[in-house]
Amino acid sequence: MKKDNHWKIMIALGLGAAVGIIANISVAGNDGAKEMLNTLIDTIAHPVGQIFLRLLFIVVVPLVFASLASGVAGLGDLSKLGKIGGRTLIFFLVTSALSAVVGITLLEVVRPGDGFDPAAREVLMSSYATQTKEIAAKTGTVVATGALAVVNQILDMFIPRNITKAITEMQMIPLIVFSLLLGAALTKIAADKRDAMVRWLDAWTEAMITIVGFAMKLAPAAVFCLIFGVTARFGLDLLQKVGMYVFLILFGYAIVLFIFYPILLKLLTKRNPIEFLRSASPIMVTAFSLSSSSGTLPTTIRVSETALGIHPKIASFVLPLGATMNMNGTALFEGAAVLFIAQVFGIELSLLQQILVVALCVISAVGVAGVPGASLPLLMIVMAQVGVPPDGLAIILGVDRILDMGRTVINVMGDVVCAAYINEVEENV
Ligand code: ASP
Repeated sequence: MKKDNHWKIMIALGLGAAVGIIANISVAGNDGAKEMLNTLIDTIAHPVGQIFLRLLFIVVVPLVFASLASGVAGLGDLSKLGKIGGRTLIFFLVTSALSAVVGITLLEVVRPGDGFDPAAREVLMSSYATQTKEIAAKTGTVVATGALAVVNQILDMFIPRNITKAITEMQMIPLIVFSLLLGAALTKIAADKRDAMVRWLDAWTEAMITIVGFAMKLAPAAVFCLIFGVTARFGLDLLQKVGMYVFLILFGYAIVLFIFYPILLKLLTKRNPIEFLRSASPIMVTAFSLSSSSGTLPTTIRVSETALGIHPKIASFVLPLGATMNMNGTALFEGAAVLFIAQVFGIELSLLQQILVVALCVISAVGVAGVPGASLPLLMIVMAQVGVPPDGLAIILGVDRILDMGRTVINVMGDVVCAAYINEVEENV
């Protein structure tokens, strides 16, 4: 992305937030004006933001397929793939667990939910009851009972029976598995056929990246609209009630982004963390505006390869996998949210239960799709496992969007840091 476009996007982000907050404050208490603002958002801000979002989403499936298959075919030696895959998964698990610990520790030390006004709790529970029910309805699709059902669900999650169905539903893990298999198979067939196929896949990758370039032209206007829509509708009035919860989670994100990731970069790579974060800023702005790791993926791949110098073979393997499986921000948020809601209900979680929360957060973060608000149904399941009423989600729902934007930045940057690490240790790919 050209530097000036990058600045335009940053300015759009700030302006969109400012105008949105002003609009939010100025319609407070005036239902007619509120309705007009909502119509403005629905008819103008929403479509402009959606065009951008969809142009990015539209390339995700072909981009992951083509770049991953070609990348694996290019590795030549499949034992290399096993080594890279093993390191990547360990990195994902360790960083997610540590992030969940950050979230839980912050909430346990400050305990912002203690002494929460029961009347305020009831108001929130009833105001967000319908939305909470809608989210609860989605949990049915992710929990299975009985050993066979659980085993089948895990199989379905990883190995597609029908790849086209997985693709139409944008299930990334089956798509990744299929692309890996294709790449692996290509290393075993005659060189002339393999080379022809790899050239074809590479052309696809390049073309998809070019479409992302088209989309980026729209980015300043779209980012303004997306952020305006969020801040104008944000439950600013709720901030008084759950402000400390929001602050602590944002503080946790900052710890991960500005302390934890730089330490990892210093220890595991030869990179300068400040330079790294600066070069990765287009990725962060996109993740923040879209609240979607999958939607950000094309930008993540492009910026990682061009501005961060990550080898395309590494980027095309680690980043799609990370966008689906590695969600450090989500793990942090889930841990913190479970504790906060437990505190509001006066439920004490023992150390053992807190350790269980960390484990559940890590597992559920793997299952969360990289789209806005995807972690909420899984969060309800985690809450139920440790005896916190899942309906309590209503308490935090009104402020979740802003936290979602933040956690998506942390999620995506975790993938990029992992790619930088793998790039370092696998120099001669
Ligand atoms: N929006 C997040 C992402 O795409 C997922 C979530 O935590 O809801 O990374």
